[in-house]
Amino acid sequence: MIVNGLEKWLGVGRADSEFRESSFIFISLTVLTLILTFFVCYNVFVIPSRLLAAIEAIGVLFCLFSYYFLWQSRDPRVAAIILVSVMTSISLLFILGTGNDEFALAFCFLTPVIAIFILGYKLGSLFSLANFIFVAYICITYMDNWSPVYFDTISFVHLTTIYFFLFSVSYFYDAGRRRTMVLLEESNRQLQALSNTDGLTNISNRRFMEKLLLDSQVGQWVAIIDIDDFKQVNDVYGHEVGDKVLVSIANILKVSVQGIGHVGRWGGEEFLVLFTDATEDVIESHIHQCQKSITDYDFGIGRSVTISCGIAPHLDSFNTSTFSHADEALYRAKTSGKNCFRFSVAHKFTENPIQYQ
Ligand code: GH3
Ligand code: MG
Ligand code: MG
Repeated sequence: MIVNGLEKWLGVGRADSEFRESSFIFISLTVLTLILTFFVCYNVFVIPSRLLAAIEAIGVLFCLFSYYFLWQSRDPRVAAIILVSVMTSISLLFILGTGNDEFALAFCFLTPVIAIFILGYKLGSLFSLANFIFVAYICITYMDNWSPVYFDTISFVHLTTIYFFLFSVSYFYDAGRRRTMVLLEESNRQLQALSNTDGLTNISNRRFMEKLLLDSQVGQWVAIIDIDDFKQVNDVYGHEVGDKVLVSIANILKVSVQGIGHVGRWGGEEFLVLFTDATEDVIESHIHQCQKSITDYDFGIGRSVTISCGIAPHLDSFNTSTFSHADEALYRAKTSGKNCFRFSVAHKFTENPIQYQ
């Protein structure tokens, strides 16, 4: 619910990369505003100090100004610069005003962490360096005048404030970073899946099948499946119906080879199956089954669709001839009248018989 509200207020969706940065500035700004408001009340009601209360109140005003730039993502960068400037100036003024009394010097530790988290390492380092030069100047100038510090309740409040400011900002920074990493991994996974998937049929694409062929063990079988007279389907029933036929055939093949091989769309109306079974007889019966399933299927066009198929053994994972052997077999299947399959002749004449698994 809080995140939903923040999304609306910032005008950025949580999936947007800007969301993490803007919400982090928002949280830091809120923590700073609360701390400054607390000190304004403290210096008005508990230990009155007009000067400190005025400085802190000006700090609160600048924080409100910074909220304005953050609202609806007007300019988060300006909001971040105001935030870090307010925090750095107030802590420096405070150190200047009180010396090291009440452990005020410890406020200088806020700037490097917050500036680098919020502004990034480049601008953050500049702020950090400027802050250090200023603190070093104050320390060197007043070194001999500062007396030993007495640790009292106010010192404790100051150290606690600094501690929790750093703690909460670091906590939200890392929580946001981890969430972003998870989102990034998820979107990488989706991209990876998309890059291996055919857009129309939703089965593996040629790129994936090529990788599979390269990685697969020698001794498997490759089958190229080509739809018979598919151009006619397009010509008679239209391209859209042709697409539906392609999708249906992809699904049939996917189901038919489940557990015994992997199917992908090789291109156009051609599919490629890499079978993991090894013997010619088994492959023959698998292909037979695929053909029957497709011929029996009702594509809703009042006629059946058939396929032809060329099969070749995958002899060497780096040998692209596997595909040309299967293609040659497919050619013979087509010229033999279609709706049939042929094995490549090449594997019958290899000098070394194939070592089937
Ligand atoms: P054969 O039996 O010799 O394979 O004949 P064919 O008509 O199937 O082969 P041909 O190569 O002449 O035509 C293939 C057709 O496949 C032509 C092309 O428009 C169609 N095609 C290729 N990709 C797609 C696609 O993504 N969607 C549709 N609807 N048609 C496609
Ligand atoms: Mg073709
Ligand atoms: Mg065809």
